[in-house]
Amino acid sequence: MLIGPPGAGKGTQATRVADAWKVPKISTGDILRRAIESESLLGITAKECMRRGELVSDEIVTDLVAERLADADTQDGFVLDGFPRTLEQALALDVLTEAYSSPMVVEVRVPEDELVRRLRQRRTIERRIDDEEATVRERLAVYRRATQPVLDFYKTRNALITVDGHASTDDVTRRINAALKR
Ligand code: AMP
Repeated sequence: MLIGPPGAGKGTQATRVADAWKVPKISTGDILRRAIESESLLGITAKECMRRGELVSDEIVTDLVAERLADADTQDGFVLDGFPRTLEQALALDVLTEAYSSPMVVEVRVPEDELVRRLRQRRTIERRIDDEEATVRERLAVYRRATQPVLDFYKTRNALITVDGHASTDDVTRRINAALKR
C-alpha cells in the first residue's frame, strides 16, 4: 500500500513498485477518474466529491476495491494506491484480504509547502479537476483528518515504513525498494 498526501508522488511510485514486483496496481483515484470520463452513474457521484476535494464514500470505494480484488491477476499480490484513506476503509480491507499475509504499508512523506508547489505545477500540465488551489487545501485537510489515523493504525501493527518523498522520483523509488527489501 502506498499512502501519502496529494502531490506526494504515490501514484508514480505505486506504478514502479507494481512493475518491479510484477503485480497489478490498483488505484481508486484512477478507477474513479475513468468512471467520470465514461459518465457512468458512479462517475457522476464521484465527480462532485472530487471537485470539492472530498472523499467518495467508504462504501463506494470499498466495493470498487472488492470487485477489483476478485480478478485473478491479484492472486500473487497487488499494490494499492490511494486506498485505504480512512480507518473504515482500512478495516474493510482487513476483511477483504484475510487470506493474504500481512500488508506492507509505505508512507510517502513530503512537506506541505512542497506539495502545494507540485500540485500547482500539475494543474497546468494534467488539468486535473481537483488541483485547483482551494480544492488542494481541502484535500490536504482531509488527508490530515481522515488518512493520518490510518498511518497510526498500521504503525501499531509494525507494518508501516515511512519514506522521505522530498527528493527526485528515482531517489524516492530507491528508498522505497530498499525499505521493502529490508
Ligand atoms: P487520488 O488520485 O488518489 O489523489 O484521488 C483523487 C480523488 O478521488 C480523491 O481526492 C477522492 O475524491 C477520490 N478518492 C480516491 N481514492 C479514494 C478513497 N480510497 N476513498 C475516498 N475517495 C477516494
